Amino acid sequence: MDLYVVLGISHGASEAEIKRAYRRLARRFHPDINPGDRMAAVRFRQILEAYETLIDPDRRSRYDAGPTAEQPDARPTSGFEGFDFSVRGADHATTFGDLFAGVLTGRGARRRAPERGADLHQEVRLAFEEAFAGATRAITVTRRETCRNCAGTGRTRVSPGPCLACQGSGAVRSVRGHMVFTRSCPTCGGTGQQRPRPCEPCGGLGQETRTEPVPVRIPAGTRDGERVRVPGKGHAGSNGGPPGDLYITAQVAPHPLFRREGDDLHLVLSIAIHEAALGARVDVPTPDGGSARLRVPPGTQSGQRFRLRERGAASTRDGRRGDLIIEARLMLPRVLDERSKELLREFGRINGENVREPFGETGHRGTETRR
Ligand SMILES: [Zn+2]
Ligand SMILES: [Zn+2]
Repeated sequence: MDLYVVLGISHGASEAEIKRAYRRLARRFHPDINPGDRMAAVRFRQILEAYETLIDPDRRSRYDAGPTAEQPDARPTSGFEGFDFSVRGADHATTFGDLFAGVLTGRGARRRAPERGADLHQEVRLAFEEAFAGATRAITVTRRETCRNCAGTGRTRVSPGPCLACQGSGAVRSVRGHMVFTRSCPTCGGTGQQRPRPCEPCGGLGQETRTEPVPVRIPAGTRDGERVRVPGKGHAGSNGGPPGDLYITAQVAPHPLFRREGDDLHLVLSIAIHEAALGARVDVPTPDGGSARLRVPPGTQSGQRFRLRERGAASTRDGRRGDLIIEARLMLPRVLDERSKELLREFGRINGENVREPFGETGHRGTETRR
């Protein structure tokens, strides 16, 4: 396998030409761009090995010298599954990593494209009165946010200048006994220049998980199961993408008296027999905690409804309020004393049994058998 042929370059190619050829081929054959394509993976491996050999002047000259020199293609490539970059030397990993970043920000990039953050969903329990009047609640939310230390870049900020670890030489020396070893500086990757390192607080991810209270405005009239959207309070986006939204689902506790139907509220009002017959003025509770005076007209029947306009719940869409619908329910008194019994008998004698008039004859005689 001719490494120059693999990269499609001439034997006299310059370093710039090698890099250019590698970038061009990496864009086509990188496994991230060809997921699951085994042939592309093998091809990419060859391209990578050719590049690594030819970009290193020492290894390139040994390769050019002939078969006694290092032959990367002699390494087994069969049974190869995926890539393990950790086995590479620090200097190669750096070179590759930087190049790799360049590849993926270019055309065909997938991993570095701006991505909107995920939405967050949470629930909040509300008392009936809170949902009716509206409330501001602090919701404790755990979400991924852009790292404050690195502003989402995942790297430390560096000022241009020589590497502090090697004083700009690109190499570090270590002494073992009488032997002095020189190796490529791991801090700068042998470049001798300061380079960004992964941000420590976020481990290079550019995001950190934070738990904090988020004030959420629950609009007046929010219904049970209704969602409130808090824009931008979901997870942070990646690669400059916008954050997701926070959705709060309201769980509104039922009220012992008021039942909601649409934006109308229903209330059952017990009225006494004399109130129903003679008419009355009754105080009824209203959902805002106050009360309203209702005129019950004479002759009110059980089940009859009265409507107090715009005393119901507000619509979260347009703020218009529904009605408060009051249903009269006749409550018969427990008649225990003789005086009350006598009055009711007297009442019956005067008014007769005409309450079942709509039934006609059957109303008086009970059920009839059918053939
Ligand atoms: Zn960070
Ligand atoms: Zn250094």
